Amino acid sequence: MRQTELFTKTRKEAPKDEVARNAELLIRAGYVYKEMAGVYAYLPLGLRVIENIVGIIREEMDAIGGVEVSLTALQDKKTWERTGRWSDDVVDNWFKTKLKSGAEAGLGFTHEEPLTALMKDFIHSYRDLPRYVYQFQTKFRNEDRAKSGIMRAREFLMKDLYSFSLDAKAHEHFYEKAKQAYVNIFSRVGLGDRTYVTFASGGSFSKYSHEFQTVTDAGEDTIYVHEKKKIAINKEVMTDEVLADLGVTRADLIEKRAVEVGNIFSLGTRFSDAFELAYVDEKGEKKPVIMGSYGIGPGRVMGTIVETLSDENGIVWPKAVAPFKAHLIVLDSKDADATGRNPARKEAERLYAALATQGIEVLYDDREARPGEKFADADLMGMPYRIVVSDKTLASGGYEVKHRATGKTEQLAEKALIDRLGK
Ligand code: ATP
Ligand code: MG
Repeated sequence: MRQTELFTKTRKEAPKDEVARNAELLIRAGYVYKEMAGVYAYLPLGLRVIENIVGIIREEMDAIGGVEVSLTALQDKKTWERTGRWSDDVVDNWFKTKLKSGAEAGLGFTHEEPLTALMKDFIHSYRDLPRYVYQFQTKFRNEDRAKSGIMRAREFLMKDLYSFSLDAKAHEHFYEKAKQAYVNIFSRVGLGDRTYVTFASGGSFSKYSHEFQTVTDAGEDTIYVHEKKKIAINKEVMTDEVLADLGVTRADLIEKRAVEVGNIFSLGTRFSDAFELAYVDEKGEKKPVIMGSYGIGPGRVMGTIVETLSDENGIVWPKAVAPFKAHLIVLDSKDADATGRNPARKEAERLYAALATQGIEVLYDDREARPGEKFADADLMGMPYRIVVSDKTLASGGYEVKHRATGKTEQLAEKALIDRLGK
């Protein structure tokens, strides 16, 4: 993509009311636009990051047998009354609205109820199980704290998968597979080093649920990390009993701030009972379906990456989620003139086209701007590599390639450059 075609521009300052580092950087670099507190639009670069994260999650969900759907944001009050979750005393973050008829409807904050109701049409016999159904969908939550930028939004994308299993044993088996898929996801998006499988409150059907907590001071949770075992305990459940269950001692744990980037939960028969979602087994007996739910917020993941990996100059994207592999910068030739003589630009155009034919997408800074401005923008926007084409690099017969994460610079010929970016 040519930067002259990208309508967004970098800015020196974030809005005054923005307190979160992730939103401040993302707004300044042109990834998101703040509509109002806790509500963010995704701009072209931001959308590419979200789509990369979504792509990774989708691959991992498909690999464990997930099948994708898209449920509705607008929700029927009647469905939610069946579990008691329509009540504002039970759920304190509903956005509710009225239809022309005067009937109430809600904007979904999660989708256990509507999906369980829907699956009743399709699950009747043991042959219809197991089923693993997921979606990427906008959720609405009237969060009272909206101080964490895109990490805690009032409108946000969520991947939510729901499992429907024959019995507790089959559920446990899938639950472990889903846990491993989550480990893979956080490793692939570049958060593996600092993300811990965290024991959290389990509700009425299992002793624990598992949160995926990424260590960052920007998080709102407190966890106790066991570095050797690569697990953690949420402060909310930290007791002697939990320590004993996990075979760890308090002295081995370090208290840390963290953000919940994902969450997996055994639901037992809570929802299948409420909606009478049952099946007939091989012996003709009626049995309840055992359910689980598995959530991840791609926007929260994106915000967490910015919080944990950025530096004083700006964002540092891991390769797998970066909007572009590299930022190609042309510094116009000194003797560029009106007749179009401009060897550096000519070479940059040629390289841009050559990379495209190799399937390597770069952001090409083809603006007529000062070198300092281009370099500062490249640092702020955070592509993994910065490639400079200038009179100097033309004379040296290679390209100057700077690695954003380490700051290391090298001279690479075209072939080596393609190898580096293609990997
Ligand atoms: P929290 O405890 O942080 O409020 P939660 O436990 O309510 O989150 P879930 O209902 O389990 O979250 O949602 C699944 C996932 O959706 C979370 O792990 C997180 O990644 C994401 N998520 C939840 N709330 C938000 C939000 N307000 N903005 C962005 N992502 C969110
Ligand atoms: Mg939570």
